[in-house]
Amino acid sequence: MRSGQSPLPTPDLHSHSTHSDGTLTPEALVARAAKRGLQVLALTDHDEVSGLQSARAAAEQHGITLVDGVEISVTWRGHTIHVVGLGIDPSNDALKRGLAATRGGRQQRAEKMAAALDGMGISGSAEGARQFAANGELLSRTHFARFLVKSGAVKDMQSAFTRFLGNGRAAFVAHEWASLENAVQWIKGSGGVSVIAHPGRYDLDSAEMRALLGEFRDHGGAALEVVTSSHKPQQYGQFAAHAKQFGLTASAGSDFHSPEESYHDLGSLPALPRDVEPVWQRLGI
Ligand code: AMP
Ligand code: MN
Ligand code: MN
Ligand code: MN
Repeated sequence: MRSGQSPLPTPDLHSHSTHSDGTLTPEALVARAAKRGLQVLALTDHDEVSGLQSARAAAEQHGITLVDGVEISVTWRGHTIHVVGLGIDPSNDALKRGLAATRGGRQQRAEKMAAALDGMGISGSAEGARQFAANGELLSRTHFARFLVKSGAVKDMQSAFTRFLGNGRAAFVAHEWASLENAVQWIKGSGGVSVIAHPGRYDLDSAEMRALLGEFRDHGGAALEVVTSSHKPQQYGQFAAHAKQFGLTASAGSDFHSPEESYHDLGSLPALPRDVEPVWQRLGI
């Protein structure tokens, strides 16, 4: 990296492929990133690292830097929190076991969501969602949402979440994911750094947010996602201040899932606020 400066454009340290709930294969994702001028991309599939090998091969072919990543689903005080790991070793045994355990309950959860939708007159959603899921171990609400849009039950993805799938909505099924401590440990133990993803999306009051960030840091967490598609520009400053207050570095990621569904496409992320330390300075890139 050039002396103390971030390369342009802003590195994108949060994205998804068909190995979780993205619609592009790792190869197509990397090709799109390269075509759009991105130099540094992290693939961070939900609870899954199986896409990293082909992403790495594609990144070498296209001459861009791939950061090995993952986005771990965590339950903290009853809230679902996402922890991104960057610079992980995907072959690390403890990490692999932890991720497999975290993925484990998804099938049963999907059956419960389908039963709830059945009860509201929407049949066949488990099979329907599965049609959209290339990775059978990673059936997610995103796949259900795509099915609900395709079947005409809702007009768009957002409505699928506000009407049926979002926290507390009609087909929401509470689920116990990994603990915060375990997720940070798995990431750290494999040589990676942990990032609290899209903090602005959680339904936490300010005392809970402070408690989360304090616990995260005390477990060895490193960064807070400041620039993300889930934040409005006004929130960048707010979360930059949180990062500084808790001694965390700052990350940036589009959370890209699909060319049709993304808010910030690959290669078009705004820069981090100037007064935070970018997490990529800790990644040796
Ligand atoms: P899951 O891991 O199965 O609970 O699914 C979570 C995924 O659902 C997230 O990673 C997002 O991709 C997607 N998601 C959650 N809320 C929304 C929303 N309001 N609109 C669109 N996608 C969402
Ligand atoms: Mn997702
Ligand atoms: Mn997330
Ligand atoms: Mn994500």
